Amino acid sequence: MERRNVGILGATGMVGQRFIQLLANHPWFNITWLAASDRSSGKTYADACAWKLDTPIPAHIAQMTLQPNTPEASSTELPRIIFAALDADIARDLEPRFAAFGCAVISNSSAFRMAPDVPLVIPEVNADHLAVLETQATRKSSGGYIVTNPNCSAIGLVLPLAPLEARFGIEKLFVTTMQAVSGAGYPGVASLDILGNVVPYIKNEEEKLEEEVAKLLGTTNGQTFTPAAAKVSAHCNRVAVIDGHTECVSIKLRKPATREQILEAWSGFQPLHGKGLDGLHLPSAPLFPVEYAPEPTRPQPRLDLMRGNGMSTTVGRLRPCSLFDWKFTLLSHNTIRGAAGAAILNAEILAVLGKFDFRAYRPLPSGNAANAQVPA
Ligand code: NAP
Repeated sequence: MERRNVGILGATGMVGQRFIQLLANHPWFNITWLAASDRSSGKTYADACAWKLDTPIPAHIAQMTLQPNTPEASSTELPRIIFAALDADIARDLEPRFAAFGCAVISNSSAFRMAPDVPLVIPEVNADHLAVLETQATRKSSGGYIVTNPNCSAIGLVLPLAPLEARFGIEKLFVTTMQAVSGAGYPGVASLDILGNVVPYIKNEEEKLEEEVAKLLGTTNGQTFTPAAAKVSAHCNRVAVIDGHTECVSIKLRKPATREQILEAWSGFQPLHGKGLDGLHLPSAPLFPVEYAPEPTRPQPRLDLMRGNGMSTTVGRLRPCSLFDWKFTLLSHNTIRGAAGAAILNAEILAVLGKFDFRAYRPLPSGNAANAQVPA
């Protein structure tokens, strides 16, 4: 695979930092451009960033200068692939500008997840939805486009749901989340609000979880999306855990399923290693996207968070439900599988599908802000 230059927009935040950590030794992508707010522009990354991860800032990144956050103003060459980790309000303004300029914007924010021409993608679940990016107006003019990954609780949930939807159909489900503080960004929730406490409200989170599950499990004809019929009711809570969202799920299926059939559906769920997409060898794809932990006290954030390098959902406690059919508990890493790792996996599948071949479009203006023009 040809190595490609990439940029990170929102590079100093919790998700931006995870992008830097995960991309530091990536075999296909090379970070050449960083930007954050106007407060950070012009500073070195080490000066601008309150680094919170347990590995050091890679030395070459620490010395990079943060660029202005618009495509026209960059003083260095703007890469064609932009990973975006911005709050939704800022993303709503900036992401379309980068797409119009000719960049593939791989977004973490909720701003465009439910847009009718924007794919919301988990490669193991609905890679076929990527076809719809060809309908975006910017794709036709500059070659640029927006692709999104789901909300951090939706992605961990949909991985074990997808094989159940395929085999048995899902009629409805009830989910209660216990979400880590890193999911609120930095500085995020005040320590006085969360230590020794549970906060039973995360703004817009329940709505996102409910609508995104339907889009992810839905179908496409290559032009539009049809949501899945499964009904979802979500309760979302913030808890005093640093990383890792835990979710308790009760599910009603359309066809009866035994415990053995459900466990077999999960252990056999290897869509990127099976027929159809076999041979893609995406570097960030876990061998088993869903891992079952049989011990009655698992999964736990402290013990199971890094399964599949933080890219697998760990499921446990599968047992009958007296209201629906079955219930279980799951755990997923919110800034790896729920954010940066998910976006990198989306970029890997876009690369393999040829969506980073921009030869048919005008090259981006290189270097100087004063000369920059939006490609026709
Ligand atoms: P965060 O820690 O608050 O970081 C926000 C980033 O945006 C910082 O780099 C900040 O730069 C930058 N920024 C602020 N204003 C800007 C502007 N006007 N122009 C350009 N950059 C600007 O937030 P986060 O947790 O990384 O989340 C980023 C996005 O990912 C959000 O949409 C969030 O919902 C989504 N997400 C987060 C998680 C998670 O687990 N944290 C999971 C999934 C999705 P400065 O340092 O210069 O202020």
